[in-house]
Amino acid sequence: MESFLYEAQPERVVFGSGKIKEAAEEICEWGVSRVLIVCTKGRFEAAEVIQEQLGGKSAGIHASAEQHVPEQNVSEILRVIQQSGADAIIAIGGGSAVGLAKAAALDTHLPILAVPTTYSGSEMTSVWGITYREGKRTGRNPVVKPKTVIYDPELTLTMPSYLSLTSGINSMAHCFEALYASKRNPVTSIMAEEGIRALFHSLQKITAVPGDREARSNALYGSWLAGEALNMADMGLHHKLCHALGGNAGLPHADTHTVILPYVIAYNAAGIPETMARAATALGLKQGEVPEQLFRLIESGNGPGSLAELGMKEKHIEAAAEEVIQQSFMNPCPVTKKDLTRLLKQAWEGKREL
Ligand code: NAD
Repeated sequence: MESFLYEAQPERVVFGSGKIKEAAEEICEWGVSRVLIVCTKGRFEAAEVIQEQLGGKSAGIHASAEQHVPEQNVSEILRVIQQSGADAIIAIGGGSAVGLAKAAALDTHLPILAVPTTYSGSEMTSVWGITYREGKRTGRNPVVKPKTVIYDPELTLTMPSYLSLTSGINSMAHCFEALYASKRNPVTSIMAEEGIRALFHSLQKITAVPGDREARSNALYGSWLAGEALNMADMGLHHKLCHALGGNAGLPHADTHTVILPYVIAYNAAGIPETMARAATALGLKQGEVPEQLFRLIESGNGPGSLAELGMKEKHIEAAAEEVIQQSFMNPCPVTKKDLTRLLKQAWEGKREL
């Protein structure tokens, strides 16, 4: 066996249908007295359920989370925390709500309880991101990692089929990159393989029947594993490309991951035989079939087929390739700017014959 480092970070995971009802009880056990609830505008009603549970301990609902955490939203939440005297945060929603809570915790060190409603996996990581005028900055800091995470599959039933698919593939991308990460270890690999299995099969079902409760539960389980794997392993070409296209070029996060993933896997396939074997086993496929089956899953779920469809202009391909090549990142196969430009052109066109 190769040498490895395994370093778990403290966390508490509460999983099950209806577990949102335990949110106030969970956070009050920390001895806190003023809890700020953070969400996007779209998750306001779910936030109100928690506000009611908290009663007098609620410091209000702050519903201004947005994708990629714009810096002005961070200044605003820091002001709200100071004025309200909040001493803890509950983030309810997708990666945007969790992301804003993390950005606040980076400065204030307030503890976070996260109640995810998408499959982004952000709630399991110590990775934060803030978008400044010059671009998106990310980093890792244990203070931003939620102390407790409540996974309640009932909250994901309202997620439209399109978001379920794209958000689930965002999570699958965490798993694929964790399988070949230089910081992988035997535990992250088990989680990543199981995450791919749980997510792929449940997404097939959810895109056909969005109300399938068992599939919803399995997808959320898969996204938990994906987030765990993302937290321990380092991310490579796929996440770097999506970071450049999402945070910096303004493309929607999960949609971008969905378009890019099959292309990066096909690009790296020759250099990652073990990853391809594990993914194929998880999906019940032959190794060479993995990228094609991802394309099929995306197509059957009416997911995005190209970067052009997401609004990217062809003239921006070169700049994105340049931005990524300037960074240092792990990747199992060598990467040149010419390779990246070709990969992005294929993804921009939605080319299927790779
Ligand atoms: P999101 O949080 O932006 O949510 C997308 C939209 O879906 C929002 O309008 C939201 O209100 C709505 N929504 C959320 N849950 C819903 C539900 N159950 N039913 C109906 N609508 C729902 O999307 P996301 O993809 O979860 O998160 C993207 C953000 O997360 C990006 O900013 C990305 O950078 C970040 N992210 C961070 C990490 C990390 O480890 N730091 C990991 C993954 C993603």
